[in-house]
Parts: sequence; C-alpha cells; structure tokens
Amino acid sequence: MTKDEQLLQIKEEILNLTQSPLYKYRAENNYWPVIGEGNHDAVMVFIGEAPGENEAKTGRPFCGAAGRVLDELLAGIELKRGDVYVTNVVKDRPPLNRDPFPEEIDLYGKFLLRQLEIIRPKVIVTLGRHSMNFIFDHLLVDGHGQGISKCHGQIFTAALESGPVKIIPMYHPAAALYQGSLKKVMMEDFMALSDLAS
Ligand code: URA
Repeated sequence: MTKDEQLLQIKEEILNLTQSPLYKYRAENNYWPVIGEGNHDAVMVFIGEAPGENEAKTGRPFCGAAGRVLDELLAGIELKRGDVYVTNVVKDRPPLNRDPFPEEIDLYGKFLLRQLEIIRPKVIVTLGRHSMNFIFDHLLVDGHGQGISKCHGQIFTAALESGPVKIIPMYHPAAALYQGSLKKVMMEDFMALSDLAS
C-alpha cells in the first residue's frame, strides 16, 4: 500500500470508530473527526492535543484562533502548512474542550503512532503538555522528566521503527492567546526548528 492509501485507511477506521467514548458526541453534533493534514512526506510533524469546535466542524486541524498562531509561527521560519503535517493525539473533540481522558489518549494515540510510522518524519514537534507526555512515554525518550516550562525548545532524540527522530516539545499555540509574553518564547523555539527543516 502507498503512504496515501495507508493514511486513508486510518481515516476510514477513525470515521467508523464507534467504540470511542467520543463517538456519540461526534454524531450528536454532526462533528467530524480530525485526522491530520499536510504533506505525507513531511520532514516535520506537528502534534496538538485534540480538536476544538472549529476543527470538529470542519475536520481540519488547527483552523481556529490557535491555528492562526501556528500559521504565524510557521511563517516566521518560512514554512507553510503544506510543507509539514499537522495532527493531534486525540482525533475527536472532547465535550466542551475538556482535557482528554487517559483512555481516550490511549485509543487515539495508537492511530497517531501508526501515522508517524507511515509518514516517517525526521522531526516531531509536540504542541502542549498532553502531546509531549504522550510522545515522551511512547517513543521512550531518554533524559526528560521535566515539565514543559523547562524543556520547551530542547531537542531530544528517539527512534521510530523506521529510524531516528528528533522530538522538540513546544508550548501549545493557544497559550500565546492567553499569555501574550509566551509568543516571543515560541518564536525563538521555532527559530531552532528552521535548521532542522530540510
Ligand atoms: N488545539 C489542538 O490541540 N488541536 C487543534 O487541532 C486545535 C486546537
């Protein structure tokens, strides 16, 4: 199967994921799952937490206010959405944007790990605490254990089945919306990414 076919298969499995605790909420609200979007051969994959309302209404990741911050940060290092792949750990919107439950992270995280093995990025950028913790736990990253305020912008090394990968935890773009001073920190962290982009 080609990469496109494998990613399409994941999309179909998630569309039919009736055993998910979030499936009923999706159906009742006519929401879409948000699978991910961008370049299937991307060197860099960005991973958020879970879709918000705008994302669940459209099926597209980071298409609201936090997405505009992400676009600005990408533009700062001369990248566009189409150069990278953007997805989330949890693919369905949790009610009223509550934090995802551990069983939801486990269920959807398995799809994320499959997406990463298909795309085979060289760099994984986690956006926010949940995404960082999931990737650190599942890719057995050495040398972490600190909170995001300590390790944002640092480069960790890990391995996918398909080869080595660098992990860079970043603040969630939404953080810049309620704490403006973080924007500058995030822009600096993104600068470090531009050297790794090719
Ligand atoms: N926040 C996220 O973590 N992901 C999105 O797709 C949108 C907002």
